[in-house]
Amino acid sequence: MTATIIDGKAFAANVRVRVAEQVAALTGDHGIKPGLAVVLVGEDPASQVYVRSKGKMTVEVGMNSFEHKLPDDTPENVLLALIQKLNNDPQVHGILVQLPLPDHLNEGLVINSIDPAKDVDGFHISNVGLLATGQKSMVPCTPLGCLMMLREHHGSLSGLNAVVVGRSNIVGKPMAQLLLGESCTVTIAHSRTREIEAVCRNADVLVAAVGRPEMINGNWIKPGATVIDVGINRVDAPEKGDGKTRLVGDVDFSSAAKVAGAITPVPGGVGPMTIACLLANTLVACCRANGFAEPEELVV
Ligand code: NAP
Repeated sequence: MTATIIDGKAFAANVRVRVAEQVAALTGDHGIKPGLAVVLVGEDPASQVYVRSKGKMTVEVGMNSFEHKLPDDTPENVLLALIQKLNNDPQVHGILVQLPLPDHLNEGLVINSIDPAKDVDGFHISNVGLLATGQKSMVPCTPLGCLMMLREHHGSLSGLNAVVVGRSNIVGKPMAQLLLGESCTVTIAHSRTREIEAVCRNADVLVAAVGRPEMINGNWIKPGATVIDVGINRVDAPEKGDGKTRLVGDVDFSSAAKVAGAITPVPGGVGPMTIACLLANTLVACCRANGFAEPEELVV
């Protein structure tokens, strides 16, 4: 078997087009422009790249982008005051604090100071609780992107065995909640799971969010399963020259693609969907704040 490649890059481009159409309608019909504020504390190079690319794509879909860059030694009260200001700013519909934060800042306190209605990352404890109880919430962008691709590929997911490898608050747990919401039979595997290969081989839908390069190979996969690879790992690539690197997922793509029915590549799978879903969440937050109908295909 050779797996169908689920093209996250193309899917994300399509989501961004749909967001841009809705933004144009909101702006044209009501004079309202959705706005996303991104707060970056410190100089982490990877975070700087993410923030730049989020800002660029926000503007490309016709939204306002507000970037707030604060120094590494920003006191907690200064950051909290900025978030309060953004909470009260009617031009700001979404607020994202880029993680990780420097060590002296309390991540939980900072995230939970964001107005839950503007929490487009979906990490606020209220949104976590709403998702867990099957209520309307802001859904974390990475698992939301995975679910959109799964729904597009499968139609109904009802009754399928889903295994999520990884139990982080930002990917594994919300992913499992979303799959449960789709009536999958969900197993969450993690570093203490026994006979994890056999657990994974039972999955019709396998989501890998581990952070270990190419850990899951073709022997772990049920023939015909759909594999969503969330992992983004940079590894040495001596074949490309001295000191060169390349990105790989948590799944060994070449062996997995021989067994799976469908698979997301890395890069070009889940990654592009994450920013597209951030834009979708900002649009949804703007619609909710103004009492407009939500774009149904962009919410769960
Ligand atoms: P994380 O917080 O480090 O969590 C990793 C999870 O994997 C933990 O639950 C851990 O189990 C589990 N794990 C570690 N080693 C394992 C093993 N040998 N066997 C089974 N489970 C194991 O990572 P994360 O933030 O969820 O991210 C996971 C991956 O997704 C990373 O590669 C990250 O870069 C990527 N990511 C991608 C996007 C995107 O936009 N595509 C977004 C977010 C994250 P324990 O809980 O037992 O320790």
